[in-house]
Amino acid sequence: MNLPDPAVHVSGAAEVAADVLVIPNEHVALVPNIGIIGGTEAILVVDTGLGLANATEVLTFADKVANGRRIHLTTTHFHPEHAFGASVFESSYLVNRAQADDLRHKGSGYLEMFRGFGGAIARRLAGVEVPVPDEVFDGVRALDLGGRTVLLRPTGRGHTLGDQVIEVPDAGVLFTGDLAETGQFAIFPWFPPHDTDVSGLAWIDVMDGLIAGQPRIVVPGHGSVGDVQVLQGVRDYLGELRDETWRRRDSAMTLDEIVAEVRALLIERHPEWTGQEWIERGVGCLCAE
Ligand SMILES: [Zn+2]
Repeated sequence: MNLPDPAVHVSGAAEVAADVLVIPNEHVALVPNIGIIGGTEAILVVDTGLGLANATEVLTFADKVANGRRIHLTTTHFHPEHAFGASVFESSYLVNRAQADDLRHKGSGYLEMFRGFGGAIARRLAGVEVPVPDEVFDGVRALDLGGRTVLLRPTGRGHTLGDQVIEVPDAGVLFTGDLAETGQFAIFPWFPPHDTDVSGLAWIDVMDGLIAGQPRIVVPGHGSVGDVQVLQGVRDYLGELRDETWRRRDSAMTLDEIVAEVRALLIERHPEWTGQEWIERGVGCLCAE
């Protein structure tokens, strides 16, 4: 695999609402959008970037933003570019129960898989160990940052078993992690037999719930910040993928034939999107549901 260096560039950070910053992924694969949400007493960092050097850059920047306020860390899900820099943060690292389970059960397998990509990815994972949270919570965690309470809300199974979204209710901001991406086909981490936890059907239900919340500003895991249309776009695509897969699944077609047809059709409908390799995995996932 020949992927570009997934370097986080904090210089691109911009406010999307008062005291809510996004360090944008600049459409580079394996760089997530990273959030910094501030209250009067503390700030919350959302996701770390891949590896210790990226996370150190994020922490140094967060330290400046915090300007003496306490720093908390959370991650949207356990995937390496979102969480595998957490050890750099000496501050409290909070995650939901299902994500902590994902880290424990699948973290080392993903570390190995990502190291197998070689090149810049492997270099950035040097010295990385699977992160261990300081606090694991059940249900929705309301985190008081001083004059602002953010909600860490587990969604149930979708892109992974342990996805959570981060809501800033007073500003109408929602951080989705990889439950939403823009400008690319939805990421289906469908790697049988090692990881088959992603569920297209459950993901659709999750998106319907997030859309019902009508956030004003949506920060996807990868791609451009937008409004509720970001969520609707992903929901529509997941529906398309399900319908086109199921229409063929119950015929005499082989999986390879279904993949080829659905892939061609969806690329024709979304010619500008990247990440075409995720279509095949999405079809595989939905064929099994
Ligand atoms: Zn992910």
